Amino acid sequence: MKYIGAHVSASGGVENAPLNAAEIGANAFALFTKNQRQWVAKPLTTESIDAFKANCEAHGFKAGQILPHDSYLINLGHPEADKLEKSRAAFLDEMQRCEQLGLDRLNFHPGSHLQQVSESECLATIAESINMALDQTQGVSAVIENTAGQGSNLGFRFEHLAEIISLVEDKQRVGVCIDTCHSFVAGYDLSTTAACEAVFSEFDRVVGFDYLKGMHLNGSKKELGSRVDRHHSLEQGFLGLDVFKYIMNSDHFNGIPMVLETIDETIWAEEIKLLRSFEEG
Ligand SMILES: [Zn+2]
Ligand SMILES: [Zn+2]
Repeated sequence: MKYIGAHVSASGGVENAPLNAAEIGANAFALFTKNQRQWVAKPLTTESIDAFKANCEAHGFKAGQILPHDSYLINLGHPEADKLEKSRAAFLDEMQRCEQLGLDRLNFHPGSHLQQVSESECLATIAESINMALDQTQGVSAVIENTAGQGSNLGFRFEHLAEIISLVEDKQRVGVCIDTCHSFVAGYDLSTTAACEAVFSEFDRVVGFDYLKGMHLNGSKKELGSRVDRHHSLEQGFLGLDVFKYIMNSDHFNGIPMVLETIDETIWAEEIKLLRSFEEG
């Protein structure tokens, strides 16, 4: 079973996200559980938590079909102690919000070294941050997203993801999310079926499909290897549709939330239909 949706709005309260997802014909969705551009947010109210759970139940969304995303401000690999501490506190809050909502995974960008420490030092700091958050929560997995490799962001090589995972103590509660746009601009060619075969078998070798807990389905405004993160609609840009046909027909992508972060939300319902049309029974 393929779970397909989009990163929908939670404005007015997290309980609106499952409603917005249902409206576009999704059977998966992503959301922010707080304003993604602010450090602190009011705690979720009991009413909001209950309404979220009721709306998910009413529309058939189980935890495994939902991929919450953390705030863009958080850098779990920050080289400066005070800022690292702030990020770790905010990440713990995000994990706890997921716990409260009955969610089982939290998607985040690994972190940036800001040219102040080596890649391997930064990766170790990120892993330590994950260990700290996992120690203080239950039932929520940390899902590391691969990145475009813009600036000093790590996670643009599958090896980065593998190295973080190797340093995480609880392997049951760590996973990865692969973003098609990020992969492509990071230099992983996904523009033909043959290229997809090669990239995803490399992914399996380096990280392993057992760790795949979500996908971001995006087109790309930028070229292969450009390391610039600009999403596009599925039918536009440089990536093409072969990768989405590949994903929709490979069992490796069954049973995980796969969400659009494409730029035109007015066509999400059509993009979901397009993806479904690629499934060959
Ligand atoms: Zn993404
Ligand atoms: Zn992106």
